[in-house]
Amino acid sequence: MSKKCVGCGIEFQSKDKNKNGYLPKSALENKSNKGKDLYCQRCFKIKNYGEYIPVEMTREDYKKEVQETIKDVKLVLAVFDVIDFEGSFDDEILDILREKDSIVVLNKIDLIPGEKHPSEVADWAKYRLGEEGIAPLDIAIVSSKNTYGISGIYKKINHFYPRGVKVAVLGVTNVGKSSIINRLIGHKIATESKYPGTTLKSSRNKLRNAEITLIDTPGLIPKGRFSDLVCEQCNLDIVPTNEISRKTYKEGNDRVIFIGGLVKIRIIGDNELKPIFSVYASKNVSYHDTNLEKAKELMESSRSDIFYPPCENCFEELKKEKIVVEEFEIETGEEMAFKGLAWLSVKRGPLKLEVTYPEKGDIVIRKAFIKPKR
Ligand code: GDP
Repeated sequence: MSKKCVGCGIEFQSKDKNKNGYLPKSALENKSNKGKDLYCQRCFKIKNYGEYIPVEMTREDYKKEVQETIKDVKLVLAVFDVIDFEGSFDDEILDILREKDSIVVLNKIDLIPGEKHPSEVADWAKYRLGEEGIAPLDIAIVSSKNTYGISGIYKKINHFYPRGVKVAVLGVTNVGKSSIINRLIGHKIATESKYPGTTLKSSRNKLRNAEITLIDTPGLIPKGRFSDLVCEQCNLDIVPTNEISRKTYKEGNDRVIFIGGLVKIRIIGDNELKPIFSVYASKNVSYHDTNLEKAKELMESSRSDIFYPPCENCFEELKKEKIVVEEFEIETGEEMAFKGLAWLSVKRGPLKLEVTYPEKGDIVIRKAFIKPKR
């Protein structure tokens, strides 16, 4: 009988209900469970009841586990969230990609609004990865939600390693790594969850009819994602699963736009032609645009009906964080990505802005991913 949970890869224990890997002794010793896929109590609850059970694992633990796993693999399959590309970056993973052969998988293509050809997305990602010093063997554009592109991953692995290979699947939390593994092996094993940090230990799975072994690794929790600065409920509302919203603005000097209550943008600089730009985020993230005076009043009232997320609790917690105010200038055809939260795409620039945000959140300026409509 397997001594490890097939959902998260952790070794079973029957001593402490509140620790990771718990399975009652009776279930562990039950002869009729021999050869069956067994889940620890935590994975069972996540799978069957959608419960959230926080993990007791530090970033260091995650890193150690991943380093150990990749030692003897030839190929890395790195999963990124296509609509939170920079939020999927983690120094640890980027370093591995600079060294090992890799196929980069861009997941959640179903969430991209409008008509955008997969090859355009792949070209854009290639360019962005190039800027990070990464040249993958190939890029696969997929949606594990509707199985689009999944067989393409298999074909690409086979193309580069026709005689079989051990592949480590890497990705930060919530990019859809477990969903992709489940699609690749054809049935549900790895615990998929809308909550981050579900996979705890690396676990191996052989692809049917192929000499390919997939090794699922725990998801690293990256630095700089706004979605990781808030509670689980706010996190669920920030990370889109269905559709994302787009709002287009044409704003003059001193107009203020709030993305939830996490980012405040003030337009600065008096252009003859007002800049035009669009903001993209989960449809559960509220936007609010106003003037400078009203913005100040509203900020003092901390109204979560206008500034959501964060919820009231997170709002109080965030007050303890260091808040920074920074000026940026973005040109036409460029975007400002707020990791794990939203992105802003400039249709008519230059857009000069002053951004107020928690220092722990990261902002990246990049070449446009989607050109906004007017
Ligand atoms: P992991 O933490 O990287 O293993 O991610 P999971 O596989 O557990 O997925 C995280 C969340 O993203 C879950 O809510 C999934 O339903 C969702 N998700 C995964 N793949 C896709 C996809 O292709 N499209 C959409 N829209 N959501 C997805």
